[in-house]
Amino acid sequence: MEEEEEEQVATEPPKIHRLDESVVNRIAAGEVIQRPVSAVKELVENSLDAHSSSINVVVKDGGLKLIQVSDDGYGIRYEDLPILCERHTTSKLSSFEDLQSIKSMGFRGEALASMTYVAHVTVMTITKGQLHGYRVSYKDGVMENEPKACAAVKGTQIMIENLFYNMSARRKNLQNSADDYSKIVDLLSRFAIHHTSVSFSCRKHGAGRADVSSVATLSRIDAIRSVYGVSVARSLMKVEALDNDPSSSVFQMDGFISNSEYVAKKITMVLFINDRLVDCTALKRALEIVYAATLPKASKPFIYMSIVLPPEHVDVNVHPTKREVSLLNQEVIIEKIQSVVESRLRSSNETQIFQEQTVEPPSSSQIISSKDSNRNPLASGSKSQKVPVNKMVRTDSSDPAGRLHIYLHAEPRGHLEKNTSLTAVRSSVRQRRNPKETADLSSIQELIAEIDSNCHSGMLDIVRNCTYIGMADDVFALLQHDTHLYLANVVSLSKELMYQQVLRRFAHFNAIQLSNPAPLKELIVLALKEGDTDPESTENDELNEKIAEMNTELLKQKADLVEEYFSIHIDKDGNLSRLPVILDQYTPDMDRVPEFVLCLGNDVDWEEEKKCFQVISAALGNFYAMHPPMLPNPSGDGLQFYQKRKLVRNNEGSLSCNTAADDMMMEDEIEHELVAEAETAWAQREWSIQHVLFPSMRLFFKPPNSMATNGTFVRVASLEKLYRIFERC
Ligand code: ADP
Ligand code: MG
Repeated sequence: MEEEEEEQVATEPPKIHRLDESVVNRIAAGEVIQRPVSAVKELVENSLDAHSSSINVVVKDGGLKLIQVSDDGYGIRYEDLPILCERHTTSKLSSFEDLQSIKSMGFRGEALASMTYVAHVTVMTITKGQLHGYRVSYKDGVMENEPKACAAVKGTQIMIENLFYNMSARRKNLQNSADDYSKIVDLLSRFAIHHTSVSFSCRKHGAGRADVSSVATLSRIDAIRSVYGVSVARSLMKVEALDNDPSSSVFQMDGFISNSEYVAKKITMVLFINDRLVDCTALKRALEIVYAATLPKASKPFIYMSIVLPPEHVDVNVHPTKREVSLLNQEVIIEKIQSVVESRLRSSNETQIFQEQTVEPPSSSQIISSKDSNRNPLASGSKSQKVPVNKMVRTDSSDPAGRLHIYLHAEPRGHLEKNTSLTAVRSSVRQRRNPKETADLSSIQELIAEIDSNCHSGMLDIVRNCTYIGMADDVFALLQHDTHLYLANVVSLSKELMYQQVLRRFAHFNAIQLSNPAPLKELIVLALKEGDTDPESTENDELNEKIAEMNTELLKQKADLVEEYFSIHIDKDGNLSRLPVILDQYTPDMDRVPEFVLCLGNDVDWEEEKKCFQVISAALGNFYAMHPPMLPNPSGDGLQFYQKRKLVRNNEGSLSCNTAADDMMMEDEIEHELVAEAETAWAQREWSIQHVLFPSMRLFFKPPNSMATNGTFVRVASLEKLYRIFERC
């Protein structure tokens, strides 16, 4: 453009002169048609206004060489062709009053005219009932020639060639940025998911395959699936809002928003207001804030929203391309939408974490232990009220279908909704298995495929549909599935689940920050000492130190790898400071860090990729598994451990008969603290088993075949039979 001339340093006031009309038009055109994608938008909107059911776009050279939009709409009348591309010619608006209630996309009659000032425009069109169509070209708002008869099927085809041929600076700018084609693809994707009764396609000139290709469908989610892919569609939830109070706001919103499992680098916000694709920065920002506050890990959502409100409440004239709009009562509307989205996110998040609630605290049942006495896992509970089995599981064997509902939190949301969000979570697992960045690490894919192919379908059904009743002892949980009771080894289950999750989250972990970075060397020494036959002896100290030093050096060298893929952070000084989140809401027992670090240093073969990842994943699995806490369980047999030590002290006390009573008290105190600590650890573990382990297993776990026979899962009783026994009593 001519701006360069104005750069001169002025000594005198420059003379004001009237701009040449063609220059004015070109500047105005440049405002409406800012880049190729804006031309496409105008043309597609015209096609939509013409009631088309199929719109096809072809683009060459990012739109600079050619943009061609073909539709099957009602076409343009022969007699309208001469003024088609003059400014302010439109079939959509004739008076100012119309402006108040306009429903179509265009109305300013500017778009086509603008294009003729900055490009070569050719129109081919045919109206209903005509034997042939017409073809005509335009320049600077006027026809270049009389319309020529041509063959045509239905609708209109408009070709924009050599866009900005007369605006060299703009053209140069655009040529440097090669992303206009992707902008056009993005634009058509957006249209396609809103106008579901229209089929869209977009391809590069000469390309056989279309980059957007949608077919007319009745369902919005089908449209999203076909355009944005299965994994996006699966992580979406429906949202709706409605207000019809003229004193505050009048609008209706419906849309789809992504859940906590949708993780992206950028927010995608597809907003239609009164069927017009627009931006509303204020709304977008408001929703971003909700996501950041509610789902920080999924704070770049996918949002599709369609808002309908009285046309007179929308001001589309704030921007020359009608792109940014402002609404009447904007604050009220935004606030209402914001709160609907927020509560939707919260409820879906809770659904994922708290699957169900057991009714009874973990307690033993002698009936079962007598059935299965050789396992002896059941002696611990010892608050041995007899709980009738039917009461304990709160179920009725004659109505197994209703069983799960009883355990659900009495939340107002419906069962169906809950299920959709569960499905979304499940699918996101699938999505996680194919994250783009790790797709090339085929070893991970192989390990995951091994899990899938080795999955035991019978146990999968149990895991998915069982009810957790409680812990039967330190290691075994009691589960009910249909009319059967099972004992399941929580340690082996959690170990395997963690292993599988490490592979699935590979390279995509959130991190747990350790409050105090732990020196690797000391950890390894500690672990080695634990392994020694006589931990008190100092015999191996020197050797242990050496091993620890070497391992620390090795792990420091591997720091980048373990950080990138496993989010295990080792700093320059050889301290461990971060660990991965494998299951949300769960931190591993830090007493097991030394063992883990030793395993990393000793057992990993860093040369072979697959083996290396597998062993690290297994080591993490073992570390994060829900082992019984190191302190014995004070509520079971473990209480002896604490009593015994107290007894010894009592004896000592009575031997040296002058022991002060105060000392005795002190000793007592310490024991109580230890008991309290142990109780907390055990209670915490049990909480995690119930609220993290089993819900996650339901969603993610693929039980390996070996678990069917190695004692991880044991069927202990059939309820029907138990009832019969009760009846006899
Ligand atoms: P506006 O859309 O604001 O009316 P445009 O410059 O985009 O202005 O289009 C001018 C007129 O050309 C439209 O009002 C419409 O009557 C006609 N027109 C443009 N494209 C098409 C099309 N694909 N099919 C039918 N009519 C069209
Ligand atoms: Mg238009």
